[in-house]
Amino acid sequence: MNTICQNIQKIKQRIPENVTMIAVSKTKPVKDIQTAYDCGQRHFGENKVQELVAKQPHLPLDIKWHMIGHLQRNKVKYIAGFVYLIHGVDNLKLLKEIDKQARKHNKKLDILLQIKIAQEDTKFGMNETLLAEILQQYENQAFPNVQIKGLMGVATNTPDKSQVAGEFAYLNRLYEKYKKRFPGFEYLSMGMSGDYRIAIQNGSNLIRIGTAVFGAR
Ligand SMILES: *Cc1c(COP(=O)(O)O)cnc(C)c1O
Repeated sequence: MNTICQNIQKIKQRIPENVTMIAVSKTKPVKDIQTAYDCGQRHFGENKVQELVAKQPHLPLDIKWHMIGHLQRNKVKYIAGFVYLIHGVDNLKLLKEIDKQARKHNKKLDILLQIKIAQEDTKFGMNETLLAEILQQYENQAFPNVQIKGLMGVATNTPDKSQVAGEFAYLNRLYEKYKKRFPGFEYLSMGMSGDYRIAIQNGSNLIRIGTAVFGAR
């Protein structure tokens, strides 16, 4: 068996059944994605629209493509037709654009709201106040072609596990709080190769794994 397949099976054995693993294939060639697919993997994540759009036509149609990176408004139109879940929605203008593009395709698009939980300034995400405002508007049917499926976050890149755990626990509290009001909440997307175990311990049910599946980038 090949390495990519061994990696996938190893991780799947380690995670509970309710947790879905997204194989993050950014910078990796189509043939590596096909290898993972042949091993049974169906959820894949990319962080750049251009790369996603270039790879998607060369791969099986039943792949569930996750857009996990920072998304620019003017690029939503390129992925609206086929994307499965957009993780990085962190502002109102982007949300409105997704709603508009979904309407053009006569469909609903599933998204996650990205919350800033890390300390680094370079990491994206909204704060709790904006989250509350956006969800209020959503409740008032402001984005009829969008379904908010939950929350997403990226923890600080630090060896301090208790800090990472604290950040994930905070996001989990927000998720649980709003899940009561929004039954459509289904996904808490947190955890990468280096911290997915801590993420799962703190309620994650959607992990985004790149390096541990495909090797170093
Ligand atoms: C690249 C990336 C990942 C995967 O990171 P690894 O450390 O390689 O597992 C997960 N989430 C996001 C948002 C990413 O950009």
